[in-house]
Amino acid sequence: MKTTLIIGAGGVSRVVVHKCVQNADVFGRIVLASRTIARCDLIKSDLPDADIVTKSVDADNTEELIKLIKEVNADIVINVALPYQDLTIMDACIATKTAYLDTANYEHPDEAKFEYKLQWERDVAFKKAGIMGVLGSGFDPGATNVFCAYAAKHYFDEIHTIDILDCNAGDHGYAFATNFNPEINLREVSSKGRYWENGEWIETEPMEIMQVWDYPEVGSKDSYLLYHEELESLVKNIKGLKRIRFFMTFGQSYLTHMKCLENVGMLGIKEVEHKGMKIVPMEFLKTLLPDPASLGPRTTGKTNIGVLVEGIKDGKKRKIYIYQVKDHEECFAETNSQGVSYSTGVPAMIGAKLMLQGKWSGEGVFNLEQLDPDPFMDEMNTQGLPWQIKEMEV
Ligand code: NDP
Repeated sequence: MKTTLIIGAGGVSRVVVHKCVQNADVFGRIVLASRTIARCDLIKSDLPDADIVTKSVDADNTEELIKLIKEVNADIVINVALPYQDLTIMDACIATKTAYLDTANYEHPDEAKFEYKLQWERDVAFKKAGIMGVLGSGFDPGATNVFCAYAAKHYFDEIHTIDILDCNAGDHGYAFATNFNPEINLREVSSKGRYWENGEWIETEPMEIMQVWDYPEVGSKDSYLLYHEELESLVKNIKGLKRIRFFMTFGQSYLTHMKCLENVGMLGIKEVEHKGMKIVPMEFLKTLLPDPASLGPRTTGKTNIGVLVEGIKDGKKRKIYIYQVKDHEECFAETNSQGVSYSTGVPAMIGAKLMLQGKWSGEGVFNLEQLDPDPFMDEMNTQGLPWQIKEMEV
């Protein structure tokens, strides 16, 4: 029987655990390990009949991770802790020759900058160890990369432009809260925007470019251009691309709160002195904000995330939109989690399932668009994230 080690016990983890238990024939025994074991036990209590063991681990410590992976004899590690832990967990997988999967690319805690460089550099070590590492298997990155690969495989001879459109029309009733880890979310959203056109990166001020997109089943929403991590790998892996951009919806209240917090220094990630103590403002803010994992019971509305792809097929121009709509309350009824955690956790489970089944295989480190999209798209349809394709007017 297989053993699946899941690291991290937040909102996304809860969904991964539920979905792995639903696919227990593939995942076998679940070991759920995180910094705070009580959070692991809370998730376990959702599923009293499942084969789940909980452990405590400091995932910043590679030696501790190596010991845990060996002790439980893991076949795969699913990393749903924070991006800060990607490298230590990857190194522990290399040392123990264990397959690895995550949902977000590495970030250093002291610098609000994410890139694949240090993870891609580990490709050689993964090859040497004879193991597979899959990077960014959430929704975006994740399902959106697979949508692009699916479009390239079945719908186009050449892809010229891609717009990734991420809409969360959910309402949790709080004046201000984030749908996933507040620190990671606010660092991403308050950074400069960036998109890629004609071979170069073009930088914008944060939230400088706004466009209204009409999202099926949700309606028209203000959407802001952000830099997002899948752009880095898609530019490299989708050949012939002329432009790629990423848009995310934000309500006016969210933007006003964020601007105000930024103006007073609450989004700072450098230590400041407070009554003789050193504190990081962003970490303190995280303590004050609602835990995203607690938003599930109060969130209503839908998410709609997709890719709009334009290019050429059989000598003719073509434009398609591949998208997925999910209802927050439906997600909560199934997994005790809101839609953003659900849309991240299900693709993490699917990627890991394909690896354990050998449907995705290889040695080295892979982004999702480098792998066969078909089995992933099939699994999305049966695991709670059914998608649709629309032919659009060119
Ligand atoms: P949460 O903050 O809810 O959970 C993170 C978990 O990681 C917590 O249980 C936390 O432990 C644990 N953790 C943090 N540091 C350590 C450590 N040093 N050792 C062990 N455990 C640790 O985050 P989310 O569930 O919202 O997000 C999880 C991941 O998913 C993030 O990397 C996020 O960026 C990614 N994500 C990806 C998306 C995608 O579409 N690709 C979308 C949304 C999120 P503790 O409880 O003790 O704090």
